Amino acid sequence: MERFNLKQKVIVIGGGIAGLSAGIFAQKCGFDTTILESHNIAGGICTSWKRKGYLFEGGMHWLAGSSEKQPMNKLWRYVGAIDDSVKFSYFEPFVEYRHEGIPIRIYRDVDTTERHLLELSPADAKEIKIFCNNIRSFKNLVDPITDIKGVKVVTSGGIYRKNRMSLSALFSMMPVMKVMIGYSKVSVGQYADRFKHEGIRGLFRALPGNEQGVAMFIMTMGALSRKDGGFPEGGSLPFAGRMVKTFTASGGEILYNTRAGRVVMKNGKTVGVKIEGSDTFISADAVIITSDTMASGRFFDTPPKAPWLDQMRKITEPTTVTFVSLGINADLKHYPKGMLITLKNPIKLSTFTYNSLLLSSYAADPHYSPEGKSVITVQLPGDSYDYWEKLKDNGQYAAEKQRVGNDVIAAITKHIPEMEGKVEVCDVATPLTYERYCGNWKGSWMTAITPNTKFKPYPAAIKGLGGVYFAGQRMLPPGGIPTAMMTARTAVQHLCRDTGAVFVCEE
Ligand SMILES: Cc1cc2nc3c(=O)[nH]c(=O)nc-3n(C[C@H](O)[C@H](O)[C@H](O)COP(=O)(O)OP(=O)(O)OC[C@H]3O[C@@H](n4cnc5c(N)ncnc54)[C@H](O)[C@@H]3O)c2cc1C
Repeated sequence: MERFNLKQKVIVIGGGIAGLSAGIFAQKCGFDTTILESHNIAGGICTSWKRKGYLFEGGMHWLAGSSEKQPMNKLWRYVGAIDDSVKFSYFEPFVEYRHEGIPIRIYRDVDTTERHLLELSPADAKEIKIFCNNIRSFKNLVDPITDIKGVKVVTSGGIYRKNRMSLSALFSMMPVMKVMIGYSKVSVGQYADRFKHEGIRGLFRALPGNEQGVAMFIMTMGALSRKDGGFPEGGSLPFAGRMVKTFTASGGEILYNTRAGRVVMKNGKTVGVKIEGSDTFISADAVIITSDTMASGRFFDTPPKAPWLDQMRKITEPTTVTFVSLGINADLKHYPKGMLITLKNPIKLSTFTYNSLLLSSYAADPHYSPEGKSVITVQLPGDSYDYWEKLKDNGQYAAEKQRVGNDVIAAITKHIPEMEGKVEVCDVATPLTYERYCGNWKGSWMTAITPNTKFKPYPAAIKGLGGVYFAGQRMLPPGGIPTAMMTARTAVQHLCRDTGAVFVCEE
């Protein structure tokens, strides 16, 4: 068949979700693909790690495309990340906040949220309805899957097709864009002030990412309200592991502990990649860079120039956290999975003051701790990269990590007294940890939504860099696991179009 007429060699830099997806798509199109991964495992930021019998979930919190109604679901199945054996949990409530002992809850089901909030505060009926209707405007959203112009697309069953965005998908996006653009300028704090009920105000103020605006929260709740955004059983590691299996089963090769150094160019076209720290050179007809595009200058003797790259460098704000994971020798199953707590003694970190914490509890999930024990993770959002870097330089990094961990434990213990003296493991990952682990710009793993954010993909290629393509979380704000996969799909479509290959897509 036409698609197998090429056996060109493709190197994919990075084995995160974007790299694995690029590898799988390229293999399915008949390319001979090698993924270079600097680590000893794949998955990138979509990962979890073990400490003394506890498993800490560091990447996957919810997955767009878990719902079979979403076209994305087909793609996750195509790359093998999910199959019929993978169970999703859709826990309720999504988050619970306590105000003077009274629970205030946001449910995935927007009607339940509306009823609950209206019962709590009839005086806020107007704002509660606006809030819930904004969430509802995402209810019919179909995450569109489109093909680039000029690429030949055939299903694995051999049917040629054009996957242009359908009119219904286009219409479903209109109310969404209105909300995203309208609320991108409204901080969570400003939004909270619209409500009269002290507890509802407290809940909104306590949401993480105060400066990022309320848009991200509404967007998340919108996805959850259409019964999407489930949590796949076992989380990040098995998710990435299944993709590795799909890739290697299709004949692809992953070289672990192999850090790409330079992409070598000859007469405006790539000829391969030099491996860092060795004399090894791997020749290739094409290279797909899936590690953070903001940090991709390091792969070239002269950092590439393109108007879209300049724009990206100018407007990108990082989503970064200090991530605290606790292994607790106590059974905390009776607490909700998502908890928002306010702090009597705020936690200070860099220029940030945290008056509240959003906790994720894995107590009810046997994958994360032995019976009778529990895991809780906490994100301290905000760009604290420079702060941690300075501490590293002056030797105070470890002590400050310990201080932050202790403050978090003390703060949570006030709300969960069973934790007192029972914390067996406290693991603190800083933006420097994420940078060291994945080489991401400022240790960031998504792009913050600001009034400057453009919700459209950057081009996957640069004029003058023949055979070089870009994919990954940075290529379509705000990023995330689906973005990583979708941008990889686009990059491979560019590769197919440029080489005359046919893109073999999902059924
Ligand atoms: C706390 C947290 C919660 C999150 N929650 C969610 C969520 O609920 N839903 C969601 O959709 N997303 C979530 N995300 C974001 C999501 O995990 C990331 O956006 C996504 O995994 C990024 O994938 P990627 O492949 O683009 O990049 P990465 O995961 O950064 O992968 C890049 C890969 O390249 C490798 N690499 C880098 N440089 C080199 C080199 N020179 N040579 C070889 N290999 C190299 C790295 O080791 C890495 O494996 C979360 C992230 C975090 C940290």
